[in-house]
Amino acid sequence: NGEDTIGLATVGLTKSFGGVHAVDGASVAFHHGKVNALIGPNGSGKTTFFNCVTGMIKPDAGSASYRGRDITGKAPHRIARAGIGRSFQLCRIFPRMTVLENMLVSVHSPTLFARLASARHHGDMERARELLARVGIDHLENTEARDLSYGQQKLLELAGVLMADPETIMLDEPAGGVNPALIDRIGSLVRSLNAEGRTFLIVEHNMDMVMSLSDHVVVFDRGRPIAEGTPDEVQNDPRVLEAYLGV
Ligand code: ADP
Repeated sequence: NGEDTIGLATVGLTKSFGGVHAVDGASVAFHHGKVNALIGPNGSGKTTFFNCVTGMIKPDAGSASYRGRDITGKAPHRIARAGIGRSFQLCRIFPRMTVLENMLVSVHSPTLFARLASARHHGDMERARELLARVGIDHLENTEARDLSYGQQKLLELAGVLMADPETIMLDEPAGGVNPALIDRIGSLVRSLNAEGRTFLIVEHNMDMVMSLSDHVVVFDRGRPIAEGTPDEVQNDPRVLEAYLGV
């Protein structure tokens, strides 16, 4: 019927650290099938929100759901199995493993041992190589990950996320610390993966990237959404300007 379907959603999600209300009763719905962005000034709770909905930390209150199924407080591998993959702000890879080895252990399991075991038993070399080619680093498959540029490490992390074939991909600052050429490559990968049906939820400070890539933007301030809409709508929303100026 052409209407949006809801993918990841939260109701009253709350997480405090001591006296700091990092996420403060956030109710937000992201659109399935779209490129969604989550933006907001530093300290507005974006990373904590990400960590709560991917099971890295347990929220104090509120709920999270994915396509109508409750995922509140579930373990990361359960959330991964529900169809959500994620990258980290400070890239999570094994620096002393080769690029190809990183791909083979990237499938999400509850423990590192389970990951190594599943890599040994079901390691899909062909798929790993296909994905490395897709992100443009297949020529580096035998290079140790620590010898890649930071942008290449982010591409490796994205390829690793794709190993699990997630329908929704959460990226935490994909452009942060990455050179402009690789930012463009990451942007076009997001576009083509979205065209193939994958949903994105991206936390990003690079506004050019956010505004050119996103269908839907949610703006956080002080732990909850204060505005949302198309890139044009949020850019022209005075509440967003106020949040960034801190007035
Ligand atoms: P953002 O990602 O938007 O920059 P964060 O979620 O990192 O925001 O942080 C939100 C608030 O919570 C900040 O005030 C931050 O200092 C605080 N915070 C985040 N993580 C922790 C933690 N582990 N311990 C204490 N305070 C934290």
